[in-house]
Amino acid sequence: MTTNPTPLIVTFGEMLIDFVPDVAGVSLAESGGFIKAPGGAPANVACAISKLGGKSAFIGKVGDDEFGHMLVDILKKNGVNSEGVCYDPHARTALAFVTLKKNGEREFMFYRNPSADMLLKESELNMGLLKQAKVFHYGSISLISEPCRSAHLTAMKAAREAGILLSYDPNVRLPLWPSSDAARDGIKSIWKDADFIKVSDDEVAFLTQGDPEKEDVVLSLWHDRLKLLVVTDGEKGCRYFAKGFKGRVPGFSVKAVDTTGAGDAFVGSFLLSVAKDTSIFDKEEKLREALAFANACGAICTTQKGAIPALPSTSDALALVKSKAN
Ligand code: ADP
Repeated sequence: MTTNPTPLIVTFGEMLIDFVPDVAGVSLAESGGFIKAPGGAPANVACAISKLGGKSAFIGKVGDDEFGHMLVDILKKNGVNSEGVCYDPHARTALAFVTLKKNGEREFMFYRNPSADMLLKESELNMGLLKQAKVFHYGSISLISEPCRSAHLTAMKAAREAGILLSYDPNVRLPLWPSSDAARDGIKSIWKDADFIKVSDDEVAFLTQGDPEKEDVVLSLWHDRLKLLVVTDGEKGCRYFAKGFKGRVPGFSVKAVDTTGAGDAFVGSFLLSVAKDTSIFDKEEKLREALAFANACGAICTTQKGAIPALPSTSDALALVKSKAN
């Protein structure tokens, strides 16, 4: 049960610039122009929380360059505490060129040689901020290389020791790892530390090499410390696996134009519900309500281009939930 009416959720990891072609369906090589958009799942989650009226902070590193300052301004404009963001004087803010080709294939090209986010050091962690959190949320990109990997592990340990809930959304980005096996091992190396894990059905397939629709396959990802495992299934909604119960919460039918950030909107919304009342891990009805709301947030995020600009407000999400109930 929570005692604090406005609990803080701290997210940790990368914030970067996505460059997306100005016309749909072309390859990166064919594209004539690119539009820049703020990206990085942990930063998106922090923005999702504040857009829904919650309190969030982001810890990470950007370059001391135009893009790094632009990203921190975006955090501030979205009401996210940015006191935990450091600037690297030498390395640049990370860039990712991303496109969805006509054949549905996604093409990525990253500029991380190394980028500032990879260079966050243990000594740069804002421990004072971290320790104020009710929930500490992170992904797996920050595990790929040193010194950020050690900073990530130190932050997790400190959070655990302070009694903070640990939340993990691996957000698999295979091209960033040296190999698929390295990705699987790296992602799983911190699996058993989390209290809450959110994975997509594709990620279940990758991590288990099994069919994500099968319950025993999903449950092979269960561990004893876990309070809840959620699998998101795109437009179909999500499935939940808790200690005493499991089930499915259907998604909302919307006209999707860009699914970027849907998972982050879902996670941000859900973590806000957890931070307000941790008993949702034990009470199925409350949990289903929070997951339906998270599904609505994910769905709304797909109806506009980009991640942060498409994040829903509480009233948007409630309206979608109600429209279905009627
Ligand atoms: P990720 O973005 O992490 O890959 P998903 O694509 O599964 O995760 O999306 C996360 C959540 O967003 C889903 O569980 C669902 O609630 C919502 N969502 C995603 N895509 C759609 C869609 N096309 N229509 C409605 N809801 C969607």
